[in-house]
Amino acid sequence: MIVLIGLGVLVWLLMPRSPGVPFAPQAPVSRFGYNRILNPMTLRGQDTYGSGLYLASRDNGARKHLGADFVTNKGESVLAPFTGKVVRHSKPYSDDNRFDGIEIQNQENFDYVKIFYMSPVGKIGDVVKVGSRVGFAQDLTMKYPNITNHVHVELYNKDSKPLNPERAFV
Ligand SMILES: [Zn+2]
Repeated sequence: MIVLIGLGVLVWLLMPRSPGVPFAPQAPVSRFGYNRILNPMTLRGQDTYGSGLYLASRDNGARKHLGADFVTNKGESVLAPFTGKVVRHSKPYSDDNRFDGIEIQNQENFDYVKIFYMSPVGKIGDVVKVGSRVGFAQDLTMKYPNITNHVHVELYNKDSKPLNPERAFV
């Protein structure tokens, strides 16, 4: 029995890990190629908790990941993808106040972005310039030990149709 558990642990330890895949920009989905919100910008690959890709499976296939996760270090600056208005500060979990986020609406085409697992700077109603710092990345390992630390990014057009964040930033 002990040998079997040991073997299991060994197999688990030897499983391939991909903490991130290089971010390869594709054609922008919107009229504008949006500014990178992190430098560098790296997609979260598969880890113990799942994959950070857009439409990746969640809850054993019950739902899909409607955002994309980009790898961060705690405290890293998060930048505005476009000039827009801070519509709200939004918390990703109703039952865990440690984590925060921001929603910014593009004032030209009314696309909006939600970025979670970051501490916003400034206040609701502020107009932020493209490329300016809007917050700092948080430490998600407080909740999910060993997860690839990241910000979760959702992007929508003015009709609230989800856009693929993997293709929005150039
Ligand atoms: Zn996510």
